[in-house]
Amino acid sequence: MTSTLSRLPALVPPPTELPPRAAALRAEVRAFLAEERAAGAWSPRADVWLSGWDERFTRELGRRGWLGMTIPVEYGGHGLGALDRYVVTEELLAAGAPVAAHWVADRQIGPTLMRFGTEEQRRRYLPRIAAGECYFGIGMSEPDAGSDLAAVRTKAVQVDGGWELTGTKVWTSGAHHAHAFFALARSAPKDDANRHAGLSQFIVDLDSPGVQIRPIPLLTGAHHFNEVVFDRVFIPDAQVLGELGGGWAQVTGELAFERSGPERFLSTFPLLTALLGELTGVSGTEREVGRIVSRLWTLRRMSLAVAGSLESGEAPELAAAVVKDLGTRFENEIVDAARTLVAIPPDPGAESGFARLLADAVLHAPGFTLRGGTNEVLRGIVARGMGLR
Ligand SMILES: Cc1cc2nc3c(=O)[nH]c(=O)nc-3n(C[C@H](O)[C@H](O)[C@H](O)COP(=O)(O)OP(=O)(O)OC[C@H]3O[C@@H](n4cnc5c(N)ncnc54)[C@H](O)[C@@H]3O)c2cc1C
Repeated sequence: MTSTLSRLPALVPPPTELPPRAAALRAEVRAFLAEERAAGAWSPRADVWLSGWDERFTRELGRRGWLGMTIPVEYGGHGLGALDRYVVTEELLAAGAPVAAHWVADRQIGPTLMRFGTEEQRRRYLPRIAAGECYFGIGMSEPDAGSDLAAVRTKAVQVDGGWELTGTKVWTSGAHHAHAFFALARSAPKDDANRHAGLSQFIVDLDSPGVQIRPIPLLTGAHHFNEVVFDRVFIPDAQVLGELGGGWAQVTGELAFERSGPERFLSTFPLLTALLGELTGVSGTEREVGRIVSRLWTLRRMSLAVAGSLESGEAPELAAAVVKDLGTRFENEIVDAARTLVAIPPDPGAESGFARLLADAVLHAPGFTLRGGTNEVLRGIVARGMGLR
């Protein structure tokens, strides 16, 4: 057994240390968040990167230079590294600050436009993303294509000067507020021998004629998700993203950004902070708290290692899948611990505090292991990467 294990590839890149400048940046972000909290601008919530839509807060982050940090200066960004961005995002998530408005644009649209976008596309979107003024969604999933994106049926038909999109996207977080999204569509007939061929990505401005956005309420009754229907939506050639027919490879690259960040283990961190507050002075809970904190620290080391690898220009798809699987299960463990260690029932109507955070977390928890690719599917990716299937 040992010899088999020693022959397997390392699942996570070597540890990454944050550069010395990170401490000053972290202190600055913390001071800003403390100021905002003290002024009552928002109160911490669980799962803020899905539910905390606050355009004022996002624009304020843009003003302070904390969005588009890895986007080059010539496109309105700040030319910094993935690790600088990591420090800012982990502080925002740990505080439960409202980051949903810019989340997708800042996390994956910016880097993807730098990688695959045309000069015109970069100039059109990147400065506004870095300023916190342009919001994006992700249009990948469809009613019969979530895990299996090769089954995407939205059709792109070539017409004079561009393409016409017809089909339905589902579970599109934030589409009702967003300016645009990346839609994955079939631009060539399906080839059963190579299901990944013939897919392309298009940048769809969500106010285009023929786009209909319909709400899908969450368990809480809140509106974050949408069904987005295209009825012969015209997409000019200038809005094709990257290579025609190269959509599969592009989407896979995008998912490495999506899967490994601190949002995959910090969605319920504000609940953990509140839990620790409730447990102060309560004996008999030290063992469970110690277990949670040590798991958290390990996950952070792993996620940071992936960020370090992204910073060096690698695409650590396998490691990102490992972090997402372990991290999202950990988010649920915090919810379980909060429910079993404290006798306060969840209360979605509470203004703030433990009962409200617990209610948020309980009602959002079913999505943690689904979004961005289900854990079962991620384990399949890991097994394949390890040569086990
Ligand atoms: C909170 C949240 C936000 C989301 N936001 C977005 C968004 O903004 N944009 C977007 O495009 N999508 C979004 N999604 C959709 C999400 O990416 C999909 O739900 C996910 O990829 C799973 O696809 P599915 O729902 O079609 O399930 P299916 O693919 O139908 O899977 C159903 C079940 O079968 C299992 N399964 C499927 N294939 C395999 C396999 N090969 N091996 C083992 N088990 C398998 C799955 O694990 C799962 O348990 C969001 C989802 C959630 C929960």
